[in-house]
Formats: sequence, C-alpha cells, structure tokens
Amino acid sequence: MTANQNREFRLAARPVGLIKPSDFQLAETPIPEPGPDQALVRTLYLSLDPTNRVWMSDRDGYLPPIELGAVMRGIGLGQVVRSNNPAFPEGSLVQGLLGWRDYLLIGTGTGVSVSLVPAGLGVPLPVLLGALGATGLTAYFGLIELGKPQPGETVVVSAAAGATGSVVGQIAKILGCRAVGIAGSDDKCAWLVNELGFDAAVNYKKEGWKKQLTAACPQGIDVVFENVGGEILDAALARINLRARIVLCGLIASYNAKEPVPGPYNFGNLLIKRAQLQGFIILDYAARFPEGVKQLAQWFRQGRLQHRDTLVEGLQEAPVAINRLFDGSATGKLLIRVAEPPLPVT
Ligand code: NDP
Repeated sequence: MTANQNREFRLAARPVGLIKPSDFQLAETPIPEPGPDQALVRTLYLSLDPTNRVWMSDRDGYLPPIELGAVMRGIGLGQVVRSNNPAFPEGSLVQGLLGWRDYLLIGTGTGVSVSLVPAGLGVPLPVLLGALGATGLTAYFGLIELGKPQPGETVVVSAAAGATGSVVGQIAKILGCRAVGIAGSDDKCAWLVNELGFDAAVNYKKEGWKKQLTAACPQGIDVVFENVGGEILDAALARINLRARIVLCGLIASYNAKEPVPGPYNFGNLLIKRAQLQGFIILDYAARFPEGVKQLAQWFRQGRLQHRDTLVEGLQEAPVAINRLFDGSATGKLLIRVAEPPLPVT
C-alpha cells in the first residue's frame, strides 16, 4: 500500500462453511477527503466477531446481510485524523461499525454510525473493544438484565474463554455467584479457574465432560449464558434448576453449518422447570452503553475484571484470522491491530 492509499476488503462471495480469503476482494482507493461536517477516521483496531460470519450470509438477522461488493462490516476503534465536524475533534477516538478498511469518513451524509470514546477512561486501547467493548457490554447487560443472577446461584457460561464468556464468568463472581465455564481446551479451562477466578471449568472436547459438568454444578444450574448451542446447550438444559434463566446470546456451533443444527432435545425441561429462555441482542441496550462502560471500567481499574486478547497484526490478515473464532485458537477477544494512533490520543 502506498502512503496515501486506503485498503478496503469488500464482500466478494457468501461463504460456504468456513470463511475463505476468496470470499473477499481487496481494493485500494484514494484516502477520502472530508467534506463539510465530515471527519476522516484512521482505523486502529478491528474487532473480529462471530456475528461477522452471520452478516456475510444471506440470512436476515438483527442487521441486514452485507451486500455483495460492499465493504465488509465490522466493529472497530479509530482515531479522527482530520475534521470539519466539531463533534469529532482531531485526535479523538471513535468506535462503531468502521468496516474492514484503513480510512473512512464519518459525519453528515456518510451513513456511518460511530460514538466518541469517553475521554479519560485510562485503559489500553484493545480493552475498549474487549472487556469494555461490545462483548463486555454483552456480558454485562445479558447476564444482569436477563440472567438476573442472585448471590449463591450457579451461572454456567459456554465459550467461556472467549471475549464475552470470560467477562460473564468474572461478573458472576463479582455478584457472588458460582461461575462455571465450558471451553475447548485444558489451557483455557486452567486460565478461567487460575487467573479469572471461575469456580470450575469443563473442557467440552474431552470424554466425560458432561459428568464433569454435573460435578461442577452440585446445586444444579440457575443461569445459563449460552454462546454456543447444539450439544452444549442441551447439556446445560438437562441440569437447570426450578425457575432457571437461560440467556440466549449466541449459537456459534451453527454459524458455519451447511445444514441446520438439530435440537435442543432437552427443550421440554424448560417446561418442567418453569424456566425462562430469552434471546438477547446487545443493540437493544445501546442507550445504556455509557452506564455499562462506566461500571466495567471501574471493575477493570479495581483489578476485579481482567481483559485478555489475541492480537493479530495487520488488516491484510483479517480474512484468515477470522476463522480463529471457530477453530478455538484464540483466547479472549480476537483483534486486528491496523495502525498505531497517528496523533496523540485525546
Ligand atoms: P469468542 O471470543 O467467544 O470466540 C468464539 C469462541 O467460541 C471460540 O473461541 C471457541 O472457543 C468457541 N467455539 C467456536 N465454535 C464452537 C463450537 N462449534 N462449539 C463450541 N464452541 C465453539 O466470541 P464472542 O465473545 O465475540 O462471541 C461469543 C458468542 O456470543 C457468539 O455466539 C456470538 O455470536 C455471541 N454474541 C452475541 C451478541 C448478542 O448481542 N447477542 C453480541 C456479542 C457476541 P472454544 O475453544 O471454547 O471452542
């Protein structure tokens, strides 16, 4: 890329199974000039999220599918580098659907929705897309508003060593619950228990894991924070207590599936246990993000909430790195570092 060029990944094909680099087209375009009431943003970090895979399909979701030929949609953190809009001063940080590109225009007529990152949070930049970002907020609002955990209750979270799951378990502990994680390796389980303070963690790739889940939840399960679906959701549903709450946050086991994933087979247990299962979409809580960020930032500064990320260098790596969400090779929040802030951060 020459210094005055902008790279952008456009959606070239709808993936079948795992995402392939050929599902994208890399285009080089001139860096755009901000017009009246617009600002130019340099992307610093890109968040890779399982929902990217859903947006690439032609399935209607909580957002419409990305159109073929359009810039790949993605959450990012950027810095305003030139501004004709007083709401976005030069040097300020913005967060939102920046897309998979180096530069973009925001402000009047751009159709890009971003929010200013509050000044003075005092946390490293990657944390703004992880423990304090959309996944941290998902954990916070999903667990508290839908899970309604009470002290002493048992909270089970799947994809527990991921961006959302790791925060769910930590908040459960802060709220005085028993936190049990389900994750895909012994290393991840050890990290959850030894570093994050989960009470137990179960490796679902090992034989006998369902028995271990029973042992890890001697009082049964009061709250299920479900990120995976399929067999894992079924195992949790089989162990719920009377009036359990199931937060249906994600179904990652089915995102690459060519055929529908069957089940859940233990659906009837919801009836027997008079349980409540509710779907959750973080966008419904957008008006309360400042409140969530404030609380998460406070826990982070107090050392009660840890952030971990798997950082991949370079925008060009995004089309390959995204599959690390599905092969288990990432721990914590999966991020792409696109650039260092060109200006002092304000
Ligand atoms: P993660 O950082 O948790 O990454 C995904 C993890 O899922 C992987 O690390 C992997 O860990 C696990 N995983 C992948 N495939 C499978 C599988 N087939 N079976 C079991 N585990 C699997 O991602 P996020 O925190 O961003 O997202 C977690 C979930 O939350 C997703 O389902 C996502 O769609 C959902 N989500 C929903 C939101 C909402 O508003 N509803 C907002 C944000 C996220 P392992 O090694 O343990 O297998």
